[in-house]
Amino acid sequence: MKYIGAHVSASGGVENAPFNAHEIGAKAFALFTKNQRQWKSAPLTKNSIALFRENCLKYGYKPSHILPHDSYLINLGHPEQEGLDKSREAFLDEMSRCEQLGLDRLNFHPGGSLGKISEEECLKRIAESINITLDKTHGVIAVIENTAGQGTNLGFKFEQIGFIISLVDDKSRVGVCIDTCHSFAAGYDLTSDESFNQTFKNFGEAVGFQYLKGMHINDSKKGFGSRVDRHDSLGKGTLGLEVFRRLMHDPRFDDIPLILETPDETIWKEEIQLLYSL
Ligand SMILES: [Zn+2]
Ligand SMILES: [Zn+2]
Repeated sequence: MKYIGAHVSASGGVENAPFNAHEIGAKAFALFTKNQRQWKSAPLTKNSIALFRENCLKYGYKPSHILPHDSYLINLGHPEQEGLDKSREAFLDEMSRCEQLGLDRLNFHPGGSLGKISEEECLKRIAESINITLDKTHGVIAVIENTAGQGTNLGFKFEQIGFIISLVDDKSRVGVCIDTCHSFAAGYDLTSDESFNQTFKNFGEAVGFQYLKGMHINDSKKGFGSRVDRHDSLGKGTLGLEVFRRLMHDPRFDDIPLILETPDETIWKEEIQLLYSL
């Protein structure tokens, strides 16, 4: 069974996210548990936490179908100590918020070298950041998202993600989220049966499907291998609809949150219906 949803608004409080997901017919959802463009936010209130849990039950969302996303400011592989410390502190806060909400996974972008340290050094820092945070939290899986490889961001090759995971002490609490747009932009083709199978064979070997804890379902505005991260609505970009038909028929993507981050939120309801119709 496929659990499709979208990254819905949590404005006015996290407790509004399950309702917003329900409104568009989603079986899964993603949210920010704090303002994603600020370093600090007020702690979650007891009331907000209780209402979030109540609304998830009311609308039938299990933690394993909810994929919170962390702030865009965080860089767990930051080359400088000050930026690294700030990122680790903020990431710990994000993981703790998930714990408070009863959620079991947090999706994040691995980070980038800013051109100041080597790729390997940066990947090691990211793994160290994950280890430090897992030691201080309980029950929440750190879910690494593959990137388009824009600028100096790492995690655009499955081998880089596999390397980070190999350095994480508690393998039961690390996972991966594959974004279809990022994969394509990073040079993993998905647009034919053959290339789709090859890409996921590659993922299986370099990372492993046991780590797959969610996906982002986006078409891409930019071309294959462009290394540019620009999402498009399904069927309107360079990926095309067939990619999503393949996904919908592939049991390897069952029972994990499949999240739309497509640009036109007014058609999310139709995009969810479209995916189920494939
Ligand atoms: Zn994404
Ligand atoms: Zn993206």
